[in-house]
Amino acid sequence: MLQLTDLIRDIPDFPKPGILFKDITPLLGSPAGLALAVEMMASPYRGQGIQKVCGAESRGFIFGTAIAQALSAGFVPIRKPGKLPAETKAISYDLEYGSDTLEIHADAVHPGEKILMVDDLLATGGTMKACCDLVSGIGAEIVGITVLIELLALKGREHIGGPIDIHAVLEF
Ligand code: 5GP
Repeated sequence: MLQLTDLIRDIPDFPKPGILFKDITPLLGSPAGLALAVEMMASPYRGQGIQKVCGAESRGFIFGTAIAQALSAGFVPIRKPGKLPAETKAISYDLEYGSDTLEIHADAVHPGEKILMVDDLLATGGTMKACCDLVSGIGAEIVGITVLIELLALKGREHIGGPIDIHAVLEF
């Protein structure tokens, strides 16, 4: 039987010494694995009227676009600064060392629109919280968050807080 966990490999000391990176590229390269992962990420949100899926650069684009198609929704990219061509809204958030900024097109989501947030992996939750704040700052309604992997020890859920439904296909 197909096990998604068999398609995720641990890479020690990437991108920095001391970090054990979950590499999802074997899963992306597996036709059956990719299809199953997308279906398991999308299915809890079928029939919930999702209008747009938002995903952050870059692995959020891969799953986000596929999930948008599975839910007959549109896809909205959230990008690093200076990459989006039209008017943007930006948010800065703290990292372990320093800070980072993400941007969304100001007209990409609208007040009251039903949004599903997507990423490959939830770690500290800093990236996802920033994405959620961008989208809810425009007044759109975040119906849920779906990720392939949640690293439970890093307590990303607590960081995101609030009543948003968070669905993780795999927990480590
Ligand atoms: P957080 O902001 O929750 O600490 O980190 C999550 C973000 O960093 C996600 O956008 C995710 O793509 C990336 N990330 C952090 N650690 C890993 C990892 O071990 N594997 C993968 N694939 N992505 C990671």
